[in-house]
Amino acid sequence: MIETSAVDDDYAAVGGAVCALDDAIERCGSCSTPVMLRRPSVSAPASPWLCRRCGSVFFARPQEKDGKLLRGVAKPICYHEVMRELNVHLGAGAQTASKRDVMRLVECFANRKFMGTDTRAQRRHIVAAPVTVIPLSGDLRITAPAERVLTLNVSGGGAALFHTRRIPQPYLAIDFTYAGVNLLPVVLETTRVRQVANSYEIAGRFVCRITP
Ligand SMILES: [Zn+2]
Repeated sequence: MIETSAVDDDYAAVGGAVCALDDAIERCGSCSTPVMLRRPSVSAPASPWLCRRCGSVFFARPQEKDGKLLRGVAKPICYHEVMRELNVHLGAGAQTASKRDVMRLVECFANRKFMGTDTRAQRRHIVAAPVTVIPLSGDLRITAPAERVLTLNVSGGGAALFHTRRIPQPYLAIDFTYAGVNLLPVVLETTRVRQVANSYEIAGRFVCRITP
């Protein structure tokens, strides 16, 4: 997906020495090489990592031991570089959300350190904003091309999206740039996909932010 540089082979030594973490992403789901990453959480945001073996991109966080980063085949990569690559395949031209919808997006996302898991307790706002979603597999690896979808509603804990095609992946990265909104991207865990006429409503809860 993204061009890979040469791979050093010293990552291989790390493999066996690590105690298993519950949230570990040990191997790249695409090429099986040890990537030594962890799943992100509300308190530990994701950032983009590139598998230097196969070019897969993960939204994850690094594994650490005794305060030192463990070295897998994955290396940190700039978020904007990832998006630039993905956007090549999407239509050009900005499409902005209404001022009211931008305000609501900002209200729901901005400056929120803890986004919470109890989505029922949080007020939902109807927001129609075009956003870019990047389908992610269970190991938080980009597995399908980015798509432009419309938000239906958002709260501090989750969002519902509307799209003409089913997006079956369990996680989505959501980027707000296309809506003209300056917010950090987030990872959404899909909790429900519902067919509405010829389209789909995809609802989920926020897992974490993505730091560029
Ligand atoms: Zn790989």
